This record gives sequence, C-alpha cells and structure tokens, in this order.
Amino acid sequence: MICRMTKENLENLLLDPEMVSPEVRSHVAGCPECSRELAELQATMAVLDAWEAPEPSPFFDARMAAKLRAEREATPAGFFERMRARLTFGSNLGFRPIAAGAFALLILIGGGTYAGLVNLNAPTPAAVHPSAAIQDLQSLDDNAQVFQQLNALDQQDDDTSSAPVNSQL
Ligand SMILES: [Zn+2]
Repeated sequence: MICRMTKENLENLLLDPEMVSPEVRSHVAGCPECSRELAELQATMAVLDAWEAPEPSPFFDARMAAKLRAEREATPAGFFERMRARLTFGSNLGFRPIAAGAFALLILIGGGTYAGLVNLNAPTPAAVHPSAAIQDLQSLDDNAQVFQQLNALDQQDDDTSSAPVNSQL
C-alpha cells in the first residue's frame, strides 16, 4: 500500500520533496524497491537535463513557409478530414484514442463553436475562415489544456477498469 503511494509521489519526491508526507519519505529510505525506482527516475531526469534539442536545419524556415503557402492555397479541408488530421497529429504527443474520441464528442456536443472551428452564424463560412491549417494551428494552443484534462480522465478510466472484475461473481 505505502509502496503504491510512494510511486504516485515519485515525481514530487524528486522535484518538491516538501510536498511529500514524511511517512512516504522515510519509507523510500528503507524500501529497496522504492529507492531503486527513485534512482531510476533521477537518472532519467539527468539524461533529460543533459539533452539538447538539435539545431533546426537551415532549410526549415523555407520549407515551413512553403508548406504553409501550399496549405493556404489548397481548398479548405472538410471538417472530418481536419478532425482526423488533428487527431493523427495528437497521437504524436501521446494522446490516446479514447481521449481523442472524447474530444470529438465535446466538439459535436458544443456544435464545434467552443473550439472556434465552426461559426454557425456566419453567412459565408469560406470568407470567415481563409485557411483551415492556420486556424488549426491557432486553436491547437488553446486546446492543449483540454487535451491534458482529457488525458487525466482517460487515466482515471484505466485505473477503474483494472480493478478486479470478478468481485460480483
Ligand atoms: Zn516501497
């Protein structure tokens, strides 16, 4: 039990030990498994600290500009195609399909208005939204927090689904 509590607090132990209860801290000192996990996490953090993002290729700006221009000139993609692209892109960041599905549901419930994807009152949508890609890039920032919350919900779901199923048999 205390091992499980400790594992949930490993990041805090590393980043902000004051947040962790003394009980857990003294457990880590005496428990080989927990102290090993903490050491592993420390090693991982050290690697991440030492890691430096590579310099972008000198052609990156030019290629990015060309891609943006092509997207701007392309005919605006349909809603579902854009949704698919968004979710495909999201999977690179570790979003799981269930979170993506929940997000899609939110969009449908909200009529798409909350994400600024669809303006139902606009008489000429094409004039209001010159480029799907640009708009997606802009709303991506706004949606990052929503994605995080959905991911958290998703993880809670996993926790409950891993509970014993046969308790009622
Ligand atoms: Zn332990």
